[in-house]
Amino acid sequence: MSLPKINTEGLSSFIPTDKIENLLKSTINPDKSRVREIIAKSLDKQRLDPEEVAVLINTSDPTLIEEIKQGARDLKTKVYGNRIVLFAPLYIGNECINDCTYCGFRKSNCDALRKTLTMDELGAEIEALEDRGHKRLILVYGEHPMYDAQFIHDTVKKAYSVHKGKGEIRRVNINAAPLDEEGYKLVKSAGIGTYQVFMETYHEPTYREVHPSGLKSDYLWRLHGLDRAFRAGIDDIGIGALMGLYDWRFEVMGLLYHTIHFEETFGVGPHTISFPRIEPAQGSELTENIPWEVSDEDFTRLVAILRLAVPYTGLILTCRESIEVRNEVIAYGVSQIDAGSDIGVGAYATVDPESAKKSQFVLADGRSLDQVIGELADAGYLPSFCTACYRAGRTGEHFMEFAVPGFVKRYCTPNAILTLLEFLDDYSSPETREKGLRQIQIELDAMPDGEKKDSLRKKIESVKNGERDLYY
Ligand code: SAM
Ligand code: SF4
Repeated sequence: MSLPKINTEGLSSFIPTDKIENLLKSTINPDKSRVREIIAKSLDKQRLDPEEVAVLINTSDPTLIEEIKQGARDLKTKVYGNRIVLFAPLYIGNECINDCTYCGFRKSNCDALRKTLTMDELGAEIEALEDRGHKRLILVYGEHPMYDAQFIHDTVKKAYSVHKGKGEIRRVNINAAPLDEEGYKLVKSAGIGTYQVFMETYHEPTYREVHPSGLKSDYLWRLHGLDRAFRAGIDDIGIGALMGLYDWRFEVMGLLYHTIHFEETFGVGPHTISFPRIEPAQGSELTENIPWEVSDEDFTRLVAILRLAVPYTGLILTCRESIEVRNEVIAYGVSQIDAGSDIGVGAYATVDPESAKKSQFVLADGRSLDQVIGELADAGYLPSFCTACYRAGRTGEHFMEFAVPGFVKRYCTPNAILTLLEFLDDYSSPETREKGLRQIQIELDAMPDGEKKDSLRKKIESVKNGERDLYY
């Protein structure tokens, strides 16, 4: 059990703070034609440059803001279609050596009840999640010597090994502290999907203020954390910023520069971008008085801007957000959401009156997975549990969806239909089943007749007859 040894020798920041500030100052009051030109560039599937993103950020004319949002909607429809991938977070343990001022797990929070799942308890959590129909998880850990690379590896293996009834976990993503290269290699060998590390804030002075101690207080170690993952062979990585610590405009630019850094260094951008807003956390004064609170209006804008800025990347939205906000921004190109989430350690398998004391923060959307699926289908989306690309060795699936013509129609939509049908047959309520089947029929009706449709129909029949895990 040991934490990685920090070594930041020779590293420097690739976030050009002064340049970002200058760009944000020099692009105020952009003219209409410039904004429209930039939206058109993104719709032409090109990643935007920092100056262009600064222009979008500085657009304040309500008509143009609506055009930015419409651009994001169009891009989503044009490139990704109407699928929404569903996952659940699973908190493995809340021990932590860091003292992030916004987090309920931080070391100095003496009221937190510390808990780490045993392997048996983890098994019970997985069974409870499988019973609800989940297939994709993100395992979440505090930063602590107990949660070293070996432990993360073992918990991932455990998650894949538990099968209850027709249930199984087919993809495990990770949200944990950044590791050293050796650690990443070990974790990769357990068969992980995406490894997420959020920078929280790209603004270095703020970063230092909100991370006063522990390994996480080292800005460069964190900033280069996912470079080490890439070098260790993990090319599926997720970046993020915690909105509310500093000005969201700066954070969007930071996310863009991080993306550009990956493109330039490794030839590929991040798989996903997350942009959680700060939620109330037990005993955290910062969360009672958020320094740069992001209004709903700005939040919806920032999601649309991110969609246009990096058109090839998956955007993740969590139950931290209210149902209303989720419904609005899903249309701007969010590709993955969690549903039926509980973030208390051990909370899926047991009803625990002290759960709040073991939670990192408070969630706003408390709907069940079944409810969310029903509502998504009702709104014309196609809920999906697809894990095909990663298991078929097609890594960088988001990039393929984006770059390979016909990819979504050939793989993503049929796989979404097959996995949704499994859910409807095995886990859903009668009302959700009806809504889901209706949406599947709409998708089928929209497909041209031919070999592909015949093949899908055959697979659908097989799923109806009890076969599972069929995919393209
Ligand atoms: N401990 C690891 C770390 O800090 O990177 C990984 C897990 S941490 C539990 C996951 C993420 O939760 C953090 O990266 C942070 O962005 C987010 N988070 C922490 N406190 C939060 C709060 N009060 N509201 C919303 N998100 C929060
Ligand atoms: Fe620990 Fe992560 Fe919470 Fe910071 S955000 S206190 S590192 S669990």
